[in-house]
Amino acid sequence: MSGEIERHPRASSLHRDNQPSDEGADVVNSLTTPTVPPIPSASTPVLVVGTGPAGLTTAITLARQGIEVLVVERRPALSGLPRAASVSTRTMELLRSWGLEQEIRAGGVEVEWKQWVGPTLAAAGDAHLTSFPTREQSAVLSPTAPASVPQDHLEPVLLEHLLGFDAARVEMGTEVVGLDSRSDGSLVTLRDVETRGTRTVHARYLVAADGARSTVRDALGIGMRGPGRLSQAIGTEFRAPLWELLGDRRYCIYAVTHPEAAGVFVPAGRGDRWVYGVEHELAQEPSASLTEEQSARLIRLGSGLADLEPRIERIGTFTFAAQLADRFRQGSAFLVGDAAHRITPRGGTGMNTAIQSAYDLGWKLAWVLRGWAGPQLLDTYETERRPVAAHNVARSADPHGGARLAAQELPVDLGGRIVHVWLPSRAGAVSTLDLLGPGLTLFTGGSSASWQRAATSVPGPPLVVHVLDAITARGVGIPHGGALLARPDGATAGWWPPGTDPVAALRGTVQAMPSASHTVDRRTEQRPTWHCMADRQG
Ligand SMILES: Cc1cc2nc3c(=O)[nH]c(=O)nc-3n(C[C@H](O)[C@H](O)[C@H](O)COP(=O)(O)OP(=O)(O)OC[C@H]3O[C@@H](n4cnc5c(N)ncnc54)[C@H](O)[C@@H]3O)c2cc1C
Repeated sequence: MSGEIERHPRASSLHRDNQPSDEGADVVNSLTTPTVPPIPSASTPVLVVGTGPAGLTTAITLARQGIEVLVVERRPALSGLPRAASVSTRTMELLRSWGLEQEIRAGGVEVEWKQWVGPTLAAAGDAHLTSFPTREQSAVLSPTAPASVPQDHLEPVLLEHLLGFDAARVEMGTEVVGLDSRSDGSLVTLRDVETRGTRTVHARYLVAADGARSTVRDALGIGMRGPGRLSQAIGTEFRAPLWELLGDRRYCIYAVTHPEAAGVFVPAGRGDRWVYGVEHELAQEPSASLTEEQSARLIRLGSGLADLEPRIERIGTFTFAAQLADRFRQGSAFLVGDAAHRITPRGGTGMNTAIQSAYDLGWKLAWVLRGWAGPQLLDTYETERRPVAAHNVARSADPHGGARLAAQELPVDLGGRIVHVWLPSRAGAVSTLDLLGPGLTLFTGGSSASWQRAATSVPGPPLVVHVLDAITARGVGIPHGGALLARPDGATAGWWPPGTDPVAALRGTVQAMPSASHTVDRRTEQRPTWHCMADRQG
């Protein structure tokens, strides 16, 4: 049996909720903190608020680990807005690890990761490298590559995947309207958007994935730092045969410099679907929008095709903001995605940061709830993800942030994950990344018997050992007789040269892991203990 979805009875389709604009999508609720705590009608280990990429990713990561998760979403169906169109290398690696790569790519277009610049689409122009790796670079780095796929294709794929797990329950048309959050759990008041009926649920952990104008964040009293309105942009979603015009100039973004129609054309999935965006200063025109006729005229000017008849599907405005939440956690409640950071579309990192942080939070919550780690592990969510979010927020506020190159930005996207190397296998191509499990993964380079023995004797989360052949081990950076310990996200937890005592190495690393690289007080050598309760596997 698979997970359940409850739908708003008036939902016209399972996945689409066509809002007129991103700005109009989230209505801010005033959340109330009840003075007398109501009696909860149900209890859940984790309540996730929001079915955007952050909420869906957190829920999938938990459900894949067998953790029960309740997801609530105010809308009757998923957002129908294309929004993010650039799925990064690391995000694709995570989606691939769930077996979703083909489904995701099926809704996108094949492009080169270059930004084309010219007076009009029809004119001559130049293609410039972006921060996304080229095909050739991806082939060296990763078992996959970035994808040009609109968010309104990606989200339904994630939702369907989530619903395949017994542990997941999704309630559409249900919003959070009240919150009493404490360190040992949250009492959350949920309201059926249609009937207005309310009920209270107790959640051991609450994940606020409720977007840029997070009502949960406000209720927790967490502020945002940074400019909330840098500029405003108008996006026109339309269909027109532009690929025919572009021929083999297939890129991820086209910047046109026509004096009357300067803006960007971004492919938004199959069927010659496009978004044309124009940015303008708020100070000049605080509430500007475009009529269909005006948009069509600009698209004709920008494309350089005077007789083009674009089919306009939607015109919406969105605000460029570059903000970071003061903290990502309050007691048992966590902020993730746009609730924790508002990133302008410049550089294409908003959704990617949301998904990667959600994955990080998801596996850590799962480990704690399964008793594989003590609650201190959850502190590392913010210590590890905040610097990434801060970097991407700052980059997106930089007018030249979109022009950075892969050499500069890939380390941020890939984080500290182990090196990808293809393994010889009869079962088809297998990457070292494919060997990562839900617990710890130990890679050894030959002479592995002592490491294997040690792996079964050290208490802690499940630990699977993979003995790599000498060449692959060399590629991953493990010398003969040495070993590397990786977390579920591929981050290196330990690396040892030959001659290391395996039991001492593994035991020491496992005990110190939640604090290993971040909170060890080297002056006193006092390291928080990591409580390990699970039996060994494999
Ligand atoms: C035009 C545009 C282009 C972009 N391009 C890119 C790009 O190329 N690459 C990239 O990485 N990013 C891009 N982004 C950013 C990306 O769209 C966001 O970062 C991403 O949607 C964040 O996901 P999220 O899950 O955090 O929030 P959201 O997608 O906003 O989801 C939040 C959900 O929570 C729900 N919700 C809110 N309040 C409540 C409540 N009280 N109760 C229940 N549910 C609630 C909302 O209805 C919503 O469905 C772009 C954004 C825009 C606007």
